[in-house]
This record gives sequence, C-alpha cells and structure tokens, in this order.
Amino acid sequence: MARIRLDHIRHAYTPELAKADNYALREVDTTFADGGAYALLGPSGCGKTTLLNIISGLLTPSNGHVRFDDTDVTMLTPEARNIAQVFQFPVIYDTMTVRENLAFPLKNRKVPADEIQRRVADMLRRIGLEKKADRKARGLTADEKQKISLGRGLVRSDVNAILFDEPLTVIDPHMKWQLRSELKQLHREFQMTMVYVTHDQTEALTFADKVVVMYAGEVVQIGTPEELFERPQHTFVGYFIGSPGMNLLPCALEGGAAVVSGQRIALPASIGPVAAGKTTELGIRPEFVSLVPRGQGIPVQIDKVEDIGSERIVRARLGDTRLSAVLDEDREIPAEADVAFTQEQLNLYADSWLVARR
Ligand code: ADP
Ligand code: MG
Repeated sequence: MARIRLDHIRHAYTPELAKADNYALREVDTTFADGGAYALLGPSGCGKTTLLNIISGLLTPSNGHVRFDDTDVTMLTPEARNIAQVFQFPVIYDTMTVRENLAFPLKNRKVPADEIQRRVADMLRRIGLEKKADRKARGLTADEKQKISLGRGLVRSDVNAILFDEPLTVIDPHMKWQLRSELKQLHREFQMTMVYVTHDQTEALTFADKVVVMYAGEVVQIGTPEELFERPQHTFVGYFIGSPGMNLLPCALEGGAAVVSGQRIALPASIGPVAAGKTTELGIRPEFVSLVPRGQGIPVQIDKVEDIGSERIVRARLGDTRLSAVLDEDREIPAEADVAFTQEQLNLYADSWLVARR
C-alpha cells in the first residue's frame, strides 16, 4: 500500500475546454495517507470520477503530478501503478465461473495455486457467493455480477490502493449496507489505502475515516464526519452534509454581532475579523436551533412542522430568511415562539469560506 500525493492537479478534457478555462478539476492538491479509508463525496459532475481515474492512471492530468510514496507515477499505466479499481457497473468475464473470475487477477500475478484457492474461498464468503462459485457469471443477476467485480478488486493483497467508483449503485439497499460493512472489515484487517467515490453522504460518512468533499472541480474540505458536521469550512459542505443542511443566514456585521433581518445575534468572541467588502453569512445547524417562549429569543414565524420519526423539523422564517430547527419529538412546539442558537455552534462565512477562530 502507498501514500498517494496529488500535487497541484488540474484537468481539462480537451485543449478547447482548457482554453475556455473549463477545467473538470480546477486545482486539487492533497495527500491520501497510507492505509487510510477515504470517501470522495460531492454532487454529480463535480469531478469525482475524473480524480479517481487520474489516481488510477486511466487519465493523465493536464497539469500536476501523481506520486505513490516517493515515486512519480504521472506517466505510468494503470497496470504499472498496481492498483485495483471497481467501477459503477460490473467488469467481469461472462464465460468464466464466479470462482475463475476471482482467481483471474491472482493467476495473472503468478500467485501460488494453494494461496489462490485460499484467497478465493475467503472472498466468496465475504461477498456471499459461495453457493454460486461454480456457476458461469453470465447467468447471474446484475447485483451478483457487481459483487464479483468487488471481489476481483479486493482479492489481491499486494496493490498500492483500491479505488471504488460508486460501486454499490446497482446493489439493493439491504445488501448495500452488508457490503459496506464488509469493505470496512477488510480495511480494518488489512489496512489498505481505499478511496471510495460516492454522491451519497450516508455512504461516505459510514465508510470513511476521512471524507473529501468536492464541489465544482475542487476539494473544499477534508475531515472526519464530526469535523464536517461541526465546522464546515465552506457553505457548500454545510448545505450538502446533514439533513436538513446547515441554515445559512445572510447577515451584516456590527460590533461583535451578526445582524439578520434586523435582529442582532451575538457571535462567539473567538470568531476572527472579516475584511470589508465580503459577503457574510451566519451558519448554524438545525440541531443547534431551539425554540423558546416568545420574548426570550429572536422572534420567528413558524410555517410548518414535519414529523420524521424520533425528531421534528420546524420550518420557520426570521424576517425574509428561512431557517429550520430539528427538535426531539417530545418537545412541545408553541404556536408563538422565538428561536435561540447554541452560541458555540455559530459559524461565520465570508464569501462562502469559514472565518477562522482565534
Ligand atoms: P462526477 O464523477 O463527480 O459525477 P466527472 O468527473 O464524471 O464527475 O465529471 C466532471 C466534469 O467533467 C463534468 O462537467 C463532466 O461533464 C466533464 N466530463 C467528464 N468526462 C468527460 C469527457 N470524457 N469529455 C468531456 N468532459 C467530460
Ligand atoms: Mg462519476
């Protein structure tokens, strides 16, 4: 396994697109630690597959370098990089049996026969296809074929990294959970460097130790699930992660307070200064908004209350600004209420980026 260094990577698919400054990756400069489990999370079209293919060698970046440990691999083929990649749709040999498909990458590498047998048997169990081991892949269902693809990616132990591009798209929801747990288990046992692409926050947050959030061709934050939740570095992370996402309230600054629709909200003293001329927003997670009796907080108009099982989402307006609160279901909701914010959980954004704390 290897540390993967992405050194000032930019990518445009054609010279024309580059000329028009239309880069699929605008600038990515980051390092994946050896043995880490990472998720690349972001909406469709933000550049996840492009970045993964640059790591694997299917694409050569327009600018920048890829390094595995201290070796520059930018110009090396996927085979020479020695990585395993699992795609969104099955890539298998239809005429081979399940067992032969799993053995294939090992045979190619001239692994001794008894070890092949042992590894294949182990992988068959992990992907739940023991009973179909000797069936031809052709006759299997789409999700069984995808399990073979996963198995083929995971069966080798000598790879530098294993890359997954939305591998569970065609798998049914229950099985998704099971396979994800199996991937986590494999990571725990063998500490391989794994990079897992998804647009699904639940998948990213449950799989990865570190989540790399991408937006419009850039990495906007790398963090643990807790860090992404509590201190989103960019308003996009606040909005994209969480359900509902972070409240973002346009505000003006006035002597240590944020002014939202004419109401003053005191900021934590540790929030640093903001240069003049920036667009400022106050960010607060719905989980840190509470309802208090009228007169004790900031007056809002409650529009709607949605029941979502153990919690309720209150949709309200502070002047013209919409905001949500998430409350326990047993909390009473007064017809007329004010809101209060957990002050330590207030985040201030200037031109979409988090204002650092002192
Ligand atoms: P994601 O995997 O996050 O959905 P992609 O990496 O596939 O995003 O795409 C990033 C951007 O690059 C998108 O705007 C997409 O339209 C563009 N793109 C992807 N593949 C090609 C290609 N072969 N030629 C031109 N543009 C492409
Ligand atoms: Mg993609």
